[in-house]
Amino acid sequence: MKTKVMKAIGSLPEDEEVMKEAGRIIKSGGLVAVPTETVYGLAGNALDPSSSKKIYAAKGRPSDNPLIVHIADIDDLPVIARDIPEKAYSLAETFWPGPLTMVLKKTKAVPPETTGGLDTVAVRMPSDRIAHEFIKLCCPFMAAPSANASGRPSCTKASHVTEDLDGKIELVIDGGEVGIGLESTIVDLTGEKPCLLRPGFISKTDLEKVIGPVDIDPAVYNKNRPDIRPKAPGMKYRHYAPKGQLTIIEGPEENVISYISEECQKAGNKGLKCAVLAVSEDITRYNDILTIDMGSRADLRQISHNLFSALRKCDEEGAQLIFSGSFGSKGLGEAIMNRLLKAAGNRVKKV
Ligand code: AMP
Ligand code: MG
Repeated sequence: MKTKVMKAIGSLPEDEEVMKEAGRIIKSGGLVAVPTETVYGLAGNALDPSSSKKIYAAKGRPSDNPLIVHIADIDDLPVIARDIPEKAYSLAETFWPGPLTMVLKKTKAVPPETTGGLDTVAVRMPSDRIAHEFIKLCCPFMAAPSANASGRPSCTKASHVTEDLDGKIELVIDGGEVGIGLESTIVDLTGEKPCLLRPGFISKTDLEKVIGPVDIDPAVYNKNRPDIRPKAPGMKYRHYAPKGQLTIIEGPEENVISYISEECQKAGNKGLKCAVLAVSEDITRYNDILTIDMGSRADLRQISHNLFSALRKCDEEGAQLIFSGSFGSKGLGEAIMNRLLKAAGNRVKKV
């Protein structure tokens, strides 16, 4: 199959041609990659089991890893979710449209192929204008996992999607670079107490301001405990991984810089290619080492925006060993470290 790429800007009538083409593809059961404010999503009709199966096949995603269903109108929520608690509506009012996914009990309208056989469904309302337009006009219940090949870093621009999925999907809608760059926060509202399953741009504290105490799924923090099963099935897989071996170095800044410099020197002597994911403030401290600028330490939004792109850049450069400092555990730092640790297969060195 030939994968088409069409540009969109998020308003009509400019996007009419793109949306017509995208609508035609979705109607015939095909797949379209769509930008959202978090990362690019690989969209199909969530209510059509064969379309969900195609999503799994295109990504090479394990079929027990459920898809998030995206809507553009709160009135559509009861079509796919039942016994919706008041807290869900409070969260929706505060954070939708936006980077928050809620896990709710599902209705019969959602086929098990979309939810990995679970009796629950994960739902989000994206704020990106192109995603909104696409859902409204082409696909009111949009099943969309991140548009990367399974295991690879998520896609923050259209060229990342074609890198992974060229020839496997019908269309990529190119809306330029996404804003946030990290996948949505996931909160489960089906238990007695709300539970955070995946950290993201919206923090646990943000959620608690609206709905009171929120638990954290123990699997989010016990990274080296394979006996603890994450409630979000996808969180058990190695993810976001570049091809080279990534190690996170933790410690006082000076120690981190000198340790990384020495390791790169040693590796270079052995003929290995190294790359450093460095904050802008530190770039000039690494002499003769390939550094990838992640943005300023003082603005974690820049780091989250650049993270997946930086990991892909390491691949483009053919880096065999990759090093990164840590970004703490506060606010957005928590979500960044969650992705970075997964990309590193939890390889951390304290210095
Ligand atoms: P992605 O599509 O790559 O953003 O990943 C979606 C994440 O949402 C994965 O970690 C899934 O396991 C998780 N997820 C989707 N649906 C559910 C659900 N019904 N219950 C728990 N986690 C879910
Ligand atoms: Mg993903």
